[in-house]
Amino acid sequence: MSQIKFQLERVSGAQVSDHELLVDLRLAAQLAGTEILSQRLYSLHGKYDPKTVHRHFGSWNKAIVAAGLQTANEINISDERLFENIMLLWEHYGRQPRRAELAIAPSQFSQSAYKRRFNSWMDALSSFVEYVNIQEAQPPSVKEIVNERRTGRDPSLRMKFRVMKRDNFRCCACGANPASQPGLTLHIDHIKPWSRGGETTDDNLQTLCEGCNLGKSNVL
Ligand SMILES: [Zn+2]
Repeated sequence: MSQIKFQLERVSGAQVSDHELLVDLRLAAQLAGTEILSQRLYSLHGKYDPKTVHRHFGSWNKAIVAAGLQTANEINISDERLFENIMLLWEHYGRQPRRAELAIAPSQFSQSAYKRRFNSWMDALSSFVEYVNIQEAQPPSVKEIVNERRTGRDPSLRMKFRVMKRDNFRCCACGANPASQPGLTLHIDHIKPWSRGGETTDDNLQTLCEGCNLGKSNVL
């Protein structure tokens, strides 16, 4: 016969204070033996429903930060993803992004993620510029080599950025740009189409807005 274990059950709707939640988050992190407390770990070691934590703090990460713990998604973010975010912001604003802009949409990573990896925002930007300036084309695939291509079809991230920056983050055909039209997407287009032997090099690439780019491929 199994023993009945009495546990205090919270009546649905019973008040839990922010403070109680934070204390329990820290306790759960201690029990789990980690500073990085995921929702899954909290479900194993914590007393409350992660949904309650969400409701009180707006998001899981905000609660984690309030508890003085580390958020899992800010650990081990690859340099490439941090650079990709810089590129996204550069494209969005049409200029070098500012540190304060990391805290607001469309930025995907906070200032602390950059600080942890590069010590400062300026160091992060310098590393980004170094990264972008490495002249490297995506190597062609086996199929592309068979077709005597020197470069792969898709431009690398750094190549996309160089081309957009050269074109001032504007569509080369109509001048549209995300800085004045939020939400507008810029594409990288092969001037001489790749399908007709055009290579993926800076000088055969141009920035087009989605509309112009799709218009172009319909004509071809
Ligand atoms: Zn356009």
